[in-house]
Amino acid sequence: MSERIFNFSAGPAVLPESVLEEASQGVREFAGSGMSLLELSHRGKYYEAVHTEAENRLLSIMGLSPETHAALFLQGGASGQFAMLPMNFLTKDAVADYVVSGDWGAKALKEAKIFGDAREAASSKADRYAYIPKTFTQTPGAKYVHITTNNTIEGTEYFALPSTDAPLVTDASSDFLALERDWSKFAFLYAGAQKNVGPAGLVVVVASREFLAQARTDIPTIFAYKTHVDSHSLYNTPPAFSIYVLGLVLKWIEEQGGLPGIERRNRQKAAVIYSALDELSSFYEPAVTVKEDRSLMNVTWRLRNAELEADFLAEAKANKLDGLKGHRSVGGFRASIYNAFPTAGCQALADLLRDFAQRKG
Ligand SMILES: *Cc1c(COP(=O)(O)O)cnc(C)c1O
Repeated sequence: MSERIFNFSAGPAVLPESVLEEASQGVREFAGSGMSLLELSHRGKYYEAVHTEAENRLLSIMGLSPETHAALFLQGGASGQFAMLPMNFLTKDAVADYVVSGDWGAKALKEAKIFGDAREAASSKADRYAYIPKTFTQTPGAKYVHITTNNTIEGTEYFALPSTDAPLVTDASSDFLALERDWSKFAFLYAGAQKNVGPAGLVVVVASREFLAQARTDIPTIFAYKTHVDSHSLYNTPPAFSIYVLGLVLKWIEEQGGLPGIERRNRQKAAVIYSALDELSSFYEPAVTVKEDRSLMNVTWRLRNAELEADFLAEAKANKLDGLKGHRSVGGFRASIYNAFPTAGCQALADLLRDFAQRKG
């Protein structure tokens, strides 16, 4: 294998090396089955053990009981959930409140409007989503309030969760299992696996059984949450490889000390980069104006002299720091440093930020 670079990509993103090694082995031959993991029937004993273990381990890491909560393994990505959630919970006259703290939240709201009276309860768009809206309008009788806990493109994150009258729902795609949270505060959450917990092709849903019981059943079978709750996500062929790798990542999270250990490391990693940016604030401009909202997962900034951007990217690439270009809609730079991203890569980026500013400033 050629040398690994520091991959700051926003997703699909870095996976732990130990996971990649074990998964490679599983692709060749799985656990004495005489078959590749990719060849196993999803109704056979080998795969069923992988599937059930991943469900149980996921809830256990989140401190949730399988009695009160269900973990679902679905397809169609987080974008699929933008539509499936309102399809299951809204009718034309039912209200849902959406707090729009970034571009992904705006997309979620757009889909919900197809199914019901989805309202923008607050938005920080006028300020380029540079902070998390702390207050919002709650509609009495709303079916749910939807937030985005980490805004991948803009680089903001919720640390304190809002109190809501209606059930709280989040798109947790880019900070799922990245820090300790009271997960029981969410009636429903979804996360594309490819940012923090696995490969693409899998979207994880974790929801309270009480909330799921209110979902509609007069919609196509494959889109009804009830179908997947009742069948333990084995109604049809699941994305078996992605679920297998999720299971390996969950084991890895436990080895890191669970969510407290993961959060400690993620905070240290982010601090290494933010402190370099803050120190050099006449040269670099953080994209997030409210410090307490700065994401631990996606660090975003611009160069005060935009003409130097191409130089910075070229130097980064020469130093094996890849994927730092900001999202095409916002420009600038973005360092995505999800769970498996190594501390050494954050240090290497901080060194380059300092060195570059010294030479060009
Ligand atoms: C990446 C991302 C999405 C889109 O995920 P897909 O799985 O590609 O549909 C949605 N929401 C957030 C917050 C994201 O980071």
